[in-house]
Amino acid sequence: MAEFTMELSDEQKEVRDWLHGFAADVIRPAAAEWDEREETPWPVIQEAAKVGIYSLDFYAQQYFDPTGLGIPMAMEELFWGDAGIALSIVGTGLAAVGVLANGTEEQIGTWIPQMYGDANDVKVAAFCSSEPDAGSDVASMRTRAVYDEAKDEWVLSGTKTWATNGGIANVHVVVAVVDPDLGSKGHASFIVPPGTQGLSQGQKFKKHGIRASHTAEVVLDNVRVPGSCLLGGKEKLDARLARAREKARKGGERVKNAAMATFEASRPAVGAMAVGTARAAYEVALEYAQTREQFGRPIIDNQGVAFQLADMRTSIDAARLLVWRASWMAINGKPFTAAEGSMSKLFASETAKKVTAQAVQILGGNGYTREYPVERMHRDSAIYTIFEGTSEIQRLVIARTLAGMPIR
Ligand SMILES: Cc1cc2nc3c(=O)[nH]c(=O)nc-3n(C[C@H](O)[C@H](O)[C@H](O)COP(=O)(O)OP(=O)(O)OC[C@H]3O[C@@H](n4cnc5c(N)ncnc54)[C@H](O)[C@@H]3O)c2cc1C
Repeated sequence: MAEFTMELSDEQKEVRDWLHGFAADVIRPAAAEWDEREETPWPVIQEAAKVGIYSLDFYAQQYFDPTGLGIPMAMEELFWGDAGIALSIVGTGLAAVGVLANGTEEQIGTWIPQMYGDANDVKVAAFCSSEPDAGSDVASMRTRAVYDEAKDEWVLSGTKTWATNGGIANVHVVVAVVDPDLGSKGHASFIVPPGTQGLSQGQKFKKHGIRASHTAEVVLDNVRVPGSCLLGGKEKLDARLARAREKARKGGERVKNAAMATFEASRPAVGAMAVGTARAAYEVALEYAQTREQFGRPIIDNQGVAFQLADMRTSIDAARLLVWRASWMAINGKPFTAAEGSMSKLFASETAKKVTAQAVQILGGNGYTREYPVERMHRDSAIYTIFEGTSEIQRLVIARTLAGMPIR
C-alpha cells in the first residue's frame, strides 16, 4: 500500500506538466469556439489521440498509479483547459470503465478498442443509465432487457436520456432491467455494437454549459444484441441475481453497501474535474485583479477583492485535498466509513460553482461577457453539482453513512 502523500514523484510531475501543456496549447485556445458551436470537438479529440492522451492505455496507467493521484491529477489538468472539451476527451472513459468493471477479458479486448478507434479515425463511446424518470432514483429505471433463449439474443427497449456522446457513439453501454423485483441489483449492462438496428439518437440537448460535450437521448426500439453483449456473461448474471435474491430475503443490507462502494471510488474523479475548472477561474481572476486598476491602484489592493481571492484559493486547495484523500483510499481499498468519496465530490463541485461566480464578480463587466473565459467557466461549473449524483444525493449518502443507516 502506498503511503498518502501530497508530494508528487518526478514521474508524476512530468505527466502533469505534459497534460498541462496540452491543456494550455490545444484545449484552452479551442474552448470558446466549440462552446459556441455546441458540437463535439473532433479535431481536438484527434489531437489528443495522436499524442496518446485519448487512449485506454493512458487512463489505465493513471488508474493503476498506486498513490491514487494519477486520475485526479489528469482530470484537474484537462478540465483546467476547458470542461466541455475535456469531457469530450474523457467521456469515452466512463463507458470503458463500465466494460472494464463488468466485462470478460474477451469483451474488454473486443469492445474497448472500438470505443476509441485510432488517431486517424477516432471514435467515442457512451454510457447510458439515466432515464427521463430515473435520474437520482436509478432503481426506478424502466428500460428492459429480455432474453430470447432460442436465438441467444437480448432485446432492449426503452429511452435513455442525458447520455454523454449518446447517438454519436460507436459503442453504447446500456444499463437495463433484467429483474424488476430486485431494484438496482436487477440491472445489467449491455454492449450495443456499432450500427445495431433500433438504436437511434433522440433529442440533442442545448445546454447551459459544457456545450462542447454532446448530450442526447438514446432511443432503444427492440434493439437485438447477441448474448455475448451482456457484460460479464449469462452465467455470472444468473449467479449474481441468485445472490441478490438471497440477500434481499435477508434484509438487503450488504447488497446496498456494495453498490455504494463503487460510487464512492469513482466520485473523486468528478471532484478533480471541478477542481480544474475552479483553479482555471481563480487564476484568471488573480491575474485580472493584479492588473486592473480603479481609483489609481490595482483592484487586488482592496481587501474586499483580495479576501475573495484568499477564500477562493483556500477552498480549491481544500477541495483538492479531499479529492486526493478519497482517491488514495479508493486505490488502496480503504473502507469509506464516512463516505469520503461523496464528501470530495460534494465539496469540490460546490467550490467550483462558488469560485467561478466569484471570478465573474472580480472581473466585473468583463467577467459577464464572452470576451473572458470566466463566463464560460461559471456556466460549465454548474454541471458538477448535478451529474454523477447531485449535491443533495452526496449529502444524503454522507448523512446516512454517519447515521449508520442503509444507503438507498
Ligand atoms: C450534461 C449532462 C451529462 C450527463 N451524462 C450522463 C451520462 O453520460 N450517462 C448517464 O447515464 N447520465 C448522464 N447524466 C444524467 C445525470 O447523471 C442526472 O441528471 C443526475 O443523476 C440527476 O438526475 P435528474 O436530472 O433526473 O435529477 P432528479 O433526480 O430529478 O433531481 C432533481 C432535484 O431533486 C433533488 N433530489 C432528488 N432526490 C432527492 C432526495 N432523495 N433528497 C434530496 N434531494 C433530492 C436533486 O438533488 C435535484 O436537485 C448527465 C446529465 C447531464 C446534465
